[in-house]
Amino acid sequence: MALDGHKYIFVLGGVMSGVGKGIASSSMGLILQQRGYRVNLVKVDPYLNVDAGTMNPTEHGEVFVLNSGLETDQDMGNYERFLNRDLGPEDYMTSGMVYQSVINRERALEYGGKCVEAVPHVRDEILGRIEAAAAHNGSKISVIEIGGTIGDFQNALFIDAARVMKIKHPDDVIFVMVSYLPVPGTLGEMKTRPTQHAVRELSSYGVQADFIIARSQQSMDEKRKEKLAISCNVRPDRIISAPDVESIYDVPLNLEKDSISDALLDALKLPKDTSGDLSEWEGFVSRIKNATKTVKIGIVGKYFDTGDFVLSDAYLSVIEALKFSAAEVGVKAEIEWLNAKNFENGGDTSVLAKYDGILVPGGFGQTGIEGKIEAIRFARVNKIPYFGLCYGMQLMVVEFARNVLGLTGAHTAEIDPKAEHLVVDVMLEQKALIAAGKYGGTMRLGTYEEILKEGTIAREAYGTEKVEERHRHRYEINPAYVERIEEAGLVFSGKSPDGVLMEVAELPKKSHPFFLGTQAHPELKARPLSPHPLFTAFLKAASIQSETR
Ligand code: GLN
Repeated sequence: MALDGHKYIFVLGGVMSGVGKGIASSSMGLILQQRGYRVNLVKVDPYLNVDAGTMNPTEHGEVFVLNSGLETDQDMGNYERFLNRDLGPEDYMTSGMVYQSVINRERALEYGGKCVEAVPHVRDEILGRIEAAAAHNGSKISVIEIGGTIGDFQNALFIDAARVMKIKHPDDVIFVMVSYLPVPGTLGEMKTRPTQHAVRELSSYGVQADFIIARSQQSMDEKRKEKLAISCNVRPDRIISAPDVESIYDVPLNLEKDSISDALLDALKLPKDTSGDLSEWEGFVSRIKNATKTVKIGIVGKYFDTGDFVLSDAYLSVIEALKFSAAEVGVKAEIEWLNAKNFENGGDTSVLAKYDGILVPGGFGQTGIEGKIEAIRFARVNKIPYFGLCYGMQLMVVEFARNVLGLTGAHTAEIDPKAEHLVVDVMLEQKALIAAGKYGGTMRLGTYEEILKEGTIAREAYGTEKVEERHRHRYEINPAYVERIEEAGLVFSGKSPDGVLMEVAELPKKSHPFFLGTQAHPELKARPLSPHPLFTAFLKAASIQSETR
């Protein structure tokens, strides 16, 4: 399938990982979109997992779920947030997915008796997927980020596919290397050599970098720009300085200081006389910066225990969603990480009194669960705004059943399937899947409709009766307990259209300023330019709470 005139920007990483390739790709996407071109961003993950759903968030960060239900890498979240639109399953691929298709085809005799090989068959599958992503939503430019660093074994086939793409469409394909220029403390001088090596290594694949985005602690001076240009065979106006900035949302503005969009459009042979500016984005960035009043939000979770480090990647979208709504409310969200384990076995919950809002995010399994339940109880009893996401909603119902209904044996089947009162139970269709050990991609995933009840906090926040949210769970509020729970005062303000699944639970405003949980993951739909209404309602309540401090 040849797409006439479609443009492809391949983004590759040089020198080391973790320098912000995803943010650079997202920023280029945003900037080109602002210039009037429809852009899709594609993530290529070279690992063999078929999707990101089976990976531990402590090691790999958050699992980001698309509308379609595909479980992807957290970069997809950044892409959607920067572009301010939904991406499709075509925009994501892993080596596992690619190989699985090739192997399935081989099993179905679709290769007509040929020996099936990495080249050309796997490479062709990659090319087909890149073209399918370009075709599916009428975009003009695809920005394709190839995960990993140049020199990794596992991304070689993807780089080779990109090389072939360039042969097929010489005027339509460019390569951007996101590299790192260290400034060793002992020297105090910016070193270009590692980047020179990375560009040389890329050329050993038959690929010449067209652009270098030079990440560093500080801006690059002209002298180094020239040095890199000569040694890497890249035009000086295509070497873009990308110093560390305060917030990832500054990156597009910063890249545009070096006129990256003109240079990219030039390289892609696309008209530059298109309209568009970044003023809406600038408005959002300055709203974040100008907020002076802070509200303290305590996130009670478990996925940040890695040695001596606090790793918040597992909750990336939650943090960003809080930021967007804080900017909207005109406050700054000061987030503190609270390890749920600290509240277990008589651990002191009174430290929670200093927070203006407490949030329990999504999660799985036993670790820290009783601590989360204790934190929720503290928020309920002391009337501190509480927001529960997925597991945070299920545990809110467990807490309510135990401490308000007096069902001391209340629990979720995920932890104790033999508990006396399974107020949270496994969804019927999930039972067989678990029994058969089918875990990958089998949860209730992706977008589902919810119907909101008149006169509730949820309905007021969303301002509409019917909403769509993304999901990722196996367990649900047990319908057998719904009536008793509601009689005791907790309202199920959002339900699936057939009324069977409880989607939102809340205490009425007259008994608590904000005590609300959602079975969905609203954080996955929060965007800088369209903050999520439930997060905004939570932050408004937290802002009011902060006045009492
Ligand atoms: N572990 C719970 C379930 O599977 C909640 C999942 C989540 O928080 N994403 O239902």
